[in-house]
Amino acid sequence: MKTVIHWFRRDLRVSDNVALSEAARRAETVIPLFIFEDAFRTGPDVGAARLAFLLQSVESLRKNLGELGHTLIVRCGKSEEILPALAQETGAQAVFANKRYEPYTQRRDERITKALLDAGVGFELFKDAVIWEETEILTQAGKPYTVFTPYSKAWKAKAIPAPRSRLGSPKSKVQSLKSDALPQTPDELGYPLTQKIPAAGERAALELLRRFLAGPVYDYGTNRNFPAVDGGSNLSPHLRAGTIGIRTILAELKKAREQATPAQAASCEVFLNELIWREFYMQVLHNFPHVTKGAFRPEYDQLKWSDHPEHFAAWCEGRTGYPIVDAAMRCLNATGTMHNRLRMIVAMFLTKDLLIHWQWGERYFMKQLVDGDMAANNGGWQWSAGTGTDAAPYFRIFNPTSQAEKFDAKGEFVRRWLPELKDFTNELIQQPWENPLLLAKSKYPQRIVLHEEQRGKCLEMFKAVKG
Ligand SMILES: Cc1cc2nc3c(=O)[nH]c(=O)nc-3n(C[C@H](O)[C@H](O)[C@H](O)COP(=O)(O)OP(=O)(O)OC[C@H]3O[C@@H](n4cnc5c(N)ncnc54)[C@H](O)[C@@H]3O)c2cc1C
Repeated sequence: MKTVIHWFRRDLRVSDNVALSEAARRAETVIPLFIFEDAFRTGPDVGAARLAFLLQSVESLRKNLGELGHTLIVRCGKSEEILPALAQETGAQAVFANKRYEPYTQRRDERITKALLDAGVGFELFKDAVIWEETEILTQAGKPYTVFTPYSKAWKAKAIPAPRSRLGSPKSKVQSLKSDALPQTPDELGYPLTQKIPAAGERAALELLRRFLAGPVYDYGTNRNFPAVDGGSNLSPHLRAGTIGIRTILAELKKAREQATPAQAASCEVFLNELIWREFYMQVLHNFPHVTKGAFRPEYDQLKWSDHPEHFAAWCEGRTGYPIVDAAMRCLNATGTMHNRLRMIVAMFLTKDLLIHWQWGERYFMKQLVDGDMAANNGGWQWSAGTGTDAAPYFRIFNPTSQAEKFDAKGEFVRRWLPELKDFTNELIQQPWENPLLLAKSKYPQRIVLHEEQRGKCLEMFKAVKG
């Protein structure tokens, strides 16, 4: 092929990029394109943190491409219109892109295939974001898995592909093309950035991976549970934006594991399992697209949630009176990130203590999170609410105080985000209501609900549906 347009989507990197390396291999000229779609600024889930991370990742991609001698073309508008027009302008025979798995993007890709076909241009999609996609891992009966453990066993039984080679310099001189300006910050689009977000771009992602695999991965199995410890890889925003390739992570993990003691290797395995959870939820989204609209188990769409706007506002703003929940929510609002253990605690609290529909929380998370991802977020919420695939059974209800005492025993995380509790002892910081005088002095709120009471109501709510 003479000319191919590589359309960057959630793969904002020059190394280990399947569609990009295929384009470079098969075409004389590759035109790197990023489309700033209208939906990036108008969609219901748009949030300043993720938008800022996206804009910074594209800027970094532009630099990385520039260092290799390529020029990133940016166009703003609708991909269905931009792609055929650019193909005509450049004489490209095909557009290459890496596959997306959300139902709405798959519908859009079908429309694009047609629009390009009508213009006589090919549209090739490649598996890149995952190791095993959609229907590549099925049960013996040929059905998608809905339980994680057997899925992960089947996933691990297959050989993992190696990373793709990095993009080289252009084979021939590329014509100069018009490129639209991108907004510098989400503020310009009406989304004021108040959060301090992590560093974006491919270099930042590779550096995170390097540092994580040089040590923390060996204690990940234990440390990952403690919010005050930075025990995770922090790679989720990069995996979402595609500033790191999954094959690269797995190849480097394999090397780290080869030097590990048996205990450290077990920790590496726990990390691998988390990466497989990511793919598990992506295949759930593809095979059961109804999860984007309701419960995985349809009977749970009949649950009578008590949707209570004031309680919801208290949850969002971190003033429920439960320190671990409030510290987690204030952290989310200030940084666009939240530790996995805390995501489970606040999600269970919203659904099983406040009895508020999980979709309210799912939406709030998507707006706030820098790593907001439809598959992982929906999976996490349905797991916590007890309505999803392989979900926590409805009767398993986290007690926020005992969770806090177990995973933030000295209140280190809570103290970081709730300075008003500084005078409480380690013993009482997770249950300040036990010292009413100090609580009144601290200005920290009273509990808006009582866990033991709400637990009973939650069990009733589920039993009414289960019969
Ligand atoms: C209610 C709820 C909502 C969530 N929403 C999101 C979301 O929008 N985006 C998101 O990436 N993760 C989400 N998660 C999963 C998890 O909390 C984050 O992936 C993790 O906290 C990111 O930190 P890390 O990069 O240090 O992860 P690590 O612990 O280092 O894990 C490595 C990678 O594995 C993947 N991963 C880890 N845990 C999960 C999981 N349970 N499900 C799917 N993938 C996982 C992520 O890509 C992560 O970067 C959610 C979990 C819950 C309970």
